[in-house]
Amino acid sequence: MTQPIVIIGGGWAGIAAAVHAVERGHCVVLVEERPYLGGRARSFVDRTTGEVIDNGQHLMMGAYRHALQTIERLGTMSKLRRQTALHVRFAEPGGHTDELNARAFGLPGKIGVAMGIMGLRRVSLRGRLAAMRFAVRLQLGMVDPVGKTCLQLLQEERQPADVITRLWEPIILATLNAPMDRAAASLLTTVLSRAFFGGADASALVIPTDGLSALIEPLPDLICQRGGDVLVSTSVDAIHVTDGRATGVTLSDGRLIPVDGVVCAVPPRALVRIAGAPDVAMPDLSFSPIVSIYLWYDVAWMVDEFVAVLGTTVQWVFNRRAMVRASADHVARYPGHVALTISAGSALVDQTADDIIAACDAELRSVFAPMAGVSLLHGLVIKEKAATFLSTPDVEQRRSHPRTAISNVVLAGDWTATELPATIEGAAQSGVAAVDVLLGGRH
Ligand SMILES: Cc1cc2nc3c(=O)[nH]c(=O)nc-3n(C[C@H](O)[C@H](O)[C@H](O)COP(=O)(O)OP(=O)(O)OC[C@H]3O[C@@H](n4cnc5c(N)ncnc54)[C@H](O)[C@@H]3O)c2cc1C
Repeated sequence: MTQPIVIIGGGWAGIAAAVHAVERGHCVVLVEERPYLGGRARSFVDRTTGEVIDNGQHLMMGAYRHALQTIERLGTMSKLRRQTALHVRFAEPGGHTDELNARAFGLPGKIGVAMGIMGLRRVSLRGRLAAMRFAVRLQLGMVDPVGKTCLQLLQEERQPADVITRLWEPIILATLNAPMDRAAASLLTTVLSRAFFGGADASALVIPTDGLSALIEPLPDLICQRGGDVLVSTSVDAIHVTDGRATGVTLSDGRLIPVDGVVCAVPPRALVRIAGAPDVAMPDLSFSPIVSIYLWYDVAWMVDEFVAVLGTTVQWVFNRRAMVRASADHVARYPGHVALTISAGSALVDQTADDIIAACDAELRSVFAPMAGVSLLHGLVIKEKAATFLSTPDVEQRRSHPRTAISNVVLAGDWTATELPATIEGAAQSGVAAVDVLLGGRH
């Protein structure tokens, strides 16, 4: 190849594609229409506090093979902290707590996770045994999720209501960002097999200790060292195709770049706006929102690093002061700083930020006793209406594969046929797969 590979889109799919193509010895031009890389997983500075926050708190898991490989090649693994084994604390209004601790008995991998589930005090014995039976049937390949929603599958697997609401539903919301009665069961079984009941440290949570954008800081240098380029605040407006092959792309500044190949790492709705782009079978995807709330308090009231909350609208509370590096000045001015996540948050998207902040603050006070007397200093709400595509059983069967009708144009993105939910790992896996299809070899 003598011309560059153009990668359209600087989200995690485009980033992983760029790193992989560079590693395979190719010159890459990465084009991103926004002024920053990272797409939906990026950081920015909160105007009031001056603190770096993310577009929404993200967690990864040990099973994120492609994303972690990409981060390793970028040399930023030091900006992540890995749990030794899955450990999640649960809290509820009234002060009730529970925990799923996969290291409680010192047993490794999936056996540790199974023991952790058996240790859930607020799930009935019947519920825990049903969860074990489901996990064993999954391991033995006896579970058929195809064409079913998560709720249908859980009912078919005779899961009692308490284990559904206290274990499976929080997992589904956190990993699939969709209500149980809509989310595709095949995604749940993949997540459970690959992560929760996967290899040794697959289920351990991997926590960013800096803003998400810090993970990808070295990317422009890596690309430029190979003679490539990173163009931000620039979009690809057209792909030129002759005899079934892309020969060049036109940028928003009017430049024409000759290409040897193109990776389209943009969501379907962006793809259809690019003239000459390949047809996608599913431009009409619907999306599921995630509402993220960042709150700053005058007291460091939270003890745990993060907590899953049950029985409230708020689903997760992340103690940013324990998780993320902050300057001494920020800590002194705002001793308490938490991020809240509400997945599948359609019910909230039309509410005002002030109402959401007030309701979330009140919920936290009903759960965490140490908040008595603590004052809220500042709050910020981020409503990502199109956070992830809605992965229903029907959509699962229509996700696009990387190969297109144009021989040297391939597709990537968390929405493509990865068999994974829309996550950083799904995006990274799709980027690597797309490059392998384009260059031949591994796929
Ligand atoms: C609030 C929130 C919380 C989340 N939490 C988690 C989590 O905890 N764990 C997890 O794994 N995942 C999480 N996700 C999902 C994860 O962020 C996404 O799945 C992933 O970032 C998608 O990456 P992508 O590259 O497929 O798409 P995107 O990030 O959307 O990237 C596509 C890029 O293409 C650019 N673009 C579009 N058109 C053009 C054009 N014509 N020319 C140039 N550029 C163009 C866009 O500007 C964009 O930057 C979360 C998402 C959100 C929103």
